[in-house]
Amino acid sequence: MKHIRNFCIIAHIDHGKSTLADRLLDTTGSVTAREKQDQLLDNMDLERERGITIKSHAIQMEYTHQGQEYILNLIDTPGHVDFSYEVSRSIAACEGALLIVDAAQSIQAQTISNLYLALENDLEIIPILNKVDLPSANPEEVTDDIVDLLGCDPEEVIPASAKTGIGIEDILEAIIDRIPSPKGDINAPLQALIFDSVYNPFRGVETYFRVINGSIRKGQQIQFMATGKSYSADEVGTLKLNQVPKQEILAGDVGYLITGIKDAREVKVGDTITDTKNPTQEAISGFEDVKPMVFAGIYPVDTEDYEELRNSMEKLQLNDASLVFQPESSAALGFGFRCGFLGMLHLEIIQERLEREFDMTVITTVPNVSYHAYTNREPDTVILVNNPSDLPDPSTLNRVEEPFIKASIITKADFVGPVMSLCIEKRGQITNQTYLTQDRVELSFDMPLAEIVFDFYDRLKTVSKGYASFDYSPIGMRESKLVKVDVLLNANSVDALSALIHQDNAYDIGKKMCEKLRQLIPRQQFDIPIQAAIGSKIIARETVKALRKDVTAKCYGGDITRKRKLLEKQKKGKKRMRAVGNVEIPQEAFMAVLKLN
Ligand code: GDP
Ligand code: MG
Repeated sequence: MKHIRNFCIIAHIDHGKSTLADRLLDTTGSVTAREKQDQLLDNMDLERERGITIKSHAIQMEYTHQGQEYILNLIDTPGHVDFSYEVSRSIAACEGALLIVDAAQSIQAQTISNLYLALENDLEIIPILNKVDLPSANPEEVTDDIVDLLGCDPEEVIPASAKTGIGIEDILEAIIDRIPSPKGDINAPLQALIFDSVYNPFRGVETYFRVINGSIRKGQQIQFMATGKSYSADEVGTLKLNQVPKQEILAGDVGYLITGIKDAREVKVGDTITDTKNPTQEAISGFEDVKPMVFAGIYPVDTEDYEELRNSMEKLQLNDASLVFQPESSAALGFGFRCGFLGMLHLEIIQERLEREFDMTVITTVPNVSYHAYTNREPDTVILVNNPSDLPDPSTLNRVEEPFIKASIITKADFVGPVMSLCIEKRGQITNQTYLTQDRVELSFDMPLAEIVFDFYDRLKTVSKGYASFDYSPIGMRESKLVKVDVLLNANSVDALSALIHQDNAYDIGKKMCEKLRQLIPRQQFDIPIQAAIGSKIIARETVKALRKDVTAKCYGGDITRKRKLLEKQKKGKKRMRAVGNVEIPQEAFMAVLKLN
């Protein structure tokens, strides 16, 4: 145990975590030249394409320092706010953290939120000033910012470039000298923290764990404390670039476990593994079930594909336990699923994976958050509303609550005004304003989650010319004056386009929604009236004008195969379109309500 170091890398997105991880693997000889490729740890195709780390990964390196061999377990963490729970569990598996700060960008919102998580877990922090090779780097100024933030000595900040290799040896030495070795009792009952899991189609779910006390042996009967289920540890081992099976993993070390579990939902990140026969008295604290933040309906474009969609969703869930879904039906769209996601990025990833990996063409309906409704008859009984259509009739409604978050935004002093206006427009209330340095301000707001999960981040980037970073955490449900705005197409209400909107904004948003839908819904052979309504009251109206000519008209009396070909061609172009009654609605229309500004 004395020669083990467990650490993670924390940083704001794009500050260089993955690049530094690659560089460390390279320097310690953990990869052969043949295995080398950029961002080694981001092994999902989507991760590579989008250049973001979605899942956390762990890897073991060996490093010899002053004649002594050390084992360094590196746990890479995702940087996007949608996946912040995984960051917190990875952090709990470590004794130290490399805190990377981009020498051109300085401290950003996730630098601070991840740092707080690391400090809460008593981690030793090694500050690293990355990208010193950049011409736009501001090493002195950013070092001062880091010193202010951590209260450390300037000498403790390691200047580095993950790209060119500057400072990498210094980082390795600091890992050994500054991060404490793990403590734990090898003879105590098994207590291991699950910090990640990955679905492997051939071997089932691979569970990544850190042993806190005791040891985990091949063949041992083990139990997952949150689910209470027992399994046989079919295979345990350490994680190099590939898995290396071992007989036993001891307290202090990190490893993987294979039990033949096929369903990702049985393995919960944050859960404690113990011995079935000789269990530990205490689970490792801090376990939480991951809660979805955003809900939306997913419907097949072709109604006949419903069963196939169900199969695909079930398979996807085996692989991604944070996806939740249940069947629902919509008067407009027929049978589909109401799905819960960690955030909008997660929603996009699920939609994309359904299309790429399962060849499904789906429509995603207007996303919403989860509301609590109370009726006059039972004002103490909460009704969970994950779909605006489930909101009780307004005449029986006592009150509605919506989820609120604490938003933390770091920006330059010049942009405080525009950022404040944006947050107030989004129904935010300022709770704090702190100057981190002369030019950098941290603003805190209490805001409704619904206002920030959609286009907030893009708007923030625009008003701050890119000089603002943002992070948030939930602070519970609060009462709000919300009304359901419905949309009628051709006089038929389309339930999948309904949204819950604050009453002060309802008229304005209803109007903008109609305008946006008019632009997005393709013209057809007849006029299509678009109306927004609150209850039976119409609040806005637009019309999609009829096409002047029938596209098939010129085929009249002519060649029937030519006419069929033309129709076929139109159908191809109809990907991600759903017919509701006799109106064709494209996918973008369902997202229109999110992009009204
Ligand atoms: P992550 O989001 O924190 O994992 O960041 P990445 O490792 O994906 O890096 C983001 C971008 O910064 C990539 O284009 C990297 O090539 C670049 N980058 C990372 N480290 C350095 C560095 O030390 N110098 C320079 N110039 N670019 C770097
Ligand atoms: Mg990365």
